[in-house]
This record gives sequence, C-alpha cells and structure tokens, in this order.
Amino acid sequence: MKKVLVTGAGGFIGGHLVAYLTKKNFQVRAVDIKPLSDWYGKSSSSENIQLDLSVIENCRLAVKGMDEIYNLAADMGGMGFIETHKARCMLSVLVNTHMLLAASEAGTEKFFFSSSACVYNGEKQNSVNASGLKESDAYPAMPEDGYGWEKLFSERMCRHFLEDFGLQTRVARFHNVYGPHGTFDGGREKAPAAICRKVVEAKLAGKHEIEIWGDGEQRRSFMYIDDCVSGIIKITNGSNSEPVNLGSEELVSINQLVSMIEQIAGIKLQKTYLLTAPQGVRGRNSDNSTLREIYNWEPKVSLMDGLEKTYAWIYDEIISGKKSM
Ligand code: NAD
Repeated sequence: MKKVLVTGAGGFIGGHLVAYLTKKNFQVRAVDIKPLSDWYGKSSSSENIQLDLSVIENCRLAVKGMDEIYNLAADMGGMGFIETHKARCMLSVLVNTHMLLAASEAGTEKFFFSSSACVYNGEKQNSVNASGLKESDAYPAMPEDGYGWEKLFSERMCRHFLEDFGLQTRVARFHNVYGPHGTFDGGREKAPAAICRKVVEAKLAGKHEIEIWGDGEQRRSFMYIDDCVSGIIKITNGSNSEPVNLGSEELVSINQLVSMIEQIAGIKLQKTYLLTAPQGVRGRNSDNSTLREIYNWEPKVSLMDGLEKTYAWIYDEIISGKKSM
C-alpha cells in the first residue's frame, strides 16, 4: 500500500484529494497549519496532523516514510486576497523550498506541486478575446505580482531538484478551481463561490441586487473540483515533468457566470459594478493541447453542472448558519 502525504490537506483541494486517496486505499498522512477543527474535510481514514510546513524540521517529520507527496499548502485566496497580501503569498516559498529539501533528503519517489495560471505573462492576458494560454506562455516571465512570482519560482525549483538531485517532480498549473467545501466568505473566496454566496444572500433577503467586481466583462475558465483531483492523479502518475495546464477551456465572462447562477437560483438581480475592486487580468483561458496529447484526458464537468452542485452546497451551508474557515 502506497504511503502518501498531502499538504494543505485542511484546505479545499487538499481535502478533496485526501478523500479520493483514502477511498482508493492509499495510506494517507494529511498535514495543514490550521487546527484540525478548522479543516474543510477531515477524513477518519487518514493520519491528520497540524504542522507549520514553513519550518524545515516540520517538513522532515511530515515526509518521513512517505512514498509520494502532494504539496498543496499555500497562503492564498481569490483576487481580493492575493492583490492585497503579496508578501504573505510569497512567503509560501518557505513551504515549497523546505518541502523540496525534505523530500529530496528522504528519497521520496514523487513530488507533486500545485502551481497556478497566475504564473502566465500578464501581457498575454490584456484582452477579453485573448487565446488560451499554452505552457510556453509563462516566459518571458511577467507573472501576477507576489503570488504568481512565488509559484513560478517554486516551479523552477521543482525542475532543478529533478535535474540536480533526481527528485521526480510533477507540476500542474491550476486554473480557477471551484466546488463544494471551498471558501465562500471571509475574504479568500474566489469568483464562483463569492457569486454563489451573494446570490443566496440576495434570494434569502428578498433584496434582488448584486455587486460585481469590475465591469463583469473580464473572462475566465473554471474547473470543477472532481476534474482537478482526477488531473492531479494523472499528472503525478505520468512521466512528463514539465509544468502542465490543469483547467477547463469553457471560457465565460463574469457577467455570464452571474447569469448562470441566477438561473440556478431562479432569480434575476440588479447589478452594480465596482470598477475599482480587484479583478485581475482581462482574459485568461487554459489551452489543454498538452493535457490531450500527453494524457489523452481533459476536464469534463460542464460549468453549469459544477455550479449547480456548488450553489446547492453553499445554500445549505448558509441556511444552516455555517461560515467557511
Ligand atoms: P486553500 O487555501 O483552501 O488550501 C491551502 C491550505 O494550505 C490551507 O488549508 C492552509 O491552511 C494551508 N497552509 C498554508 N500555509 C501552510 C503552512 N505553512 N503549513 C501547512 N499548511 C499551510 O487553497 P486551495 O484552493 O485548496 O489551493 C490548494 C493549492 O492549489 C494551493 O497551492 C494553491 O495556490 C493552488 N491553486 C489553487 C487554485 C484554486 O482555484 N483553488 C488555483 C491555482 C492554484
């Protein structure tokens, strides 16, 4: 039975990944800096430990005896968080540096690193009609300030740990992951969860209004969590060590995203546009040519299907008075 470590396991994607791996009978060690009571999805089948992985001694404890590592821990959030916490986002480099060192010292077989579409050159994302980003579009480097630079630097470390120390690193660039059990309030939430929450609140209050960040014409693609977990497993098990996009190619504007969630909720809202709010690049989509060519696979869940599940989960959480951690 393979022994695997998932870092950031108390978070959104980490929690889903632990659930998948334990179901497949892997022996899972789950680690996060948060107290166990704040984890989104704690599995009773995994060994759950609270550790700060910016400290190398803690990384050494975490990797001990593990065959594979899924390194998802990061201090991050949606646009509202990463545009206003650049230093904190960059400090995740301590986690990534120390995890790579500890994994390499321990002779770990595989090391997966969760990078981001925020590594891509901003100049290629200035238009709502920008074409899908190919992996080579990360260079020449001009990533998202703070968060994107940290991810790009950590990607390069993965490459050089493989070249210099033989650690088998795998890197995926996630494009906007959403789904149940993610942050939907408190300032770290991303667009799909934030809009679902606003629509639920408007519906429950009977006040049919919504505030949208920017003019709503900025475009993105969004990947459902189940596709993200399947992609992580495929990329980790494959032999390609170059960074690869892991995202959907179903591009929508934020206005279209709002309309879809209005349709799910069965209401129509009066929109107010906050033109000075953080909104990121103008247009960003994933080009999945590499996923198709190398892995013969790409995300399958349609945005509408994924949003229906996400909206239903956020609705139930709000009705039962819960807040996300
Ligand atoms: P998340 O915030 O829900 O999970 C990250 C977890 O890492 C948190 O639970 C946090 O407590 C933990 N963490 C932070 N610092 C730590 C430390 N020093 N030691 C141990 N744990 C620590 O985020 P997520 O959406 O699940 O994202 C997981 C990974 O995927 C992150 O690396 C993120 O940058 C990357 N990513 C996510 C998206 C997305 O759309 N969700 C997009 C691109 C990349």
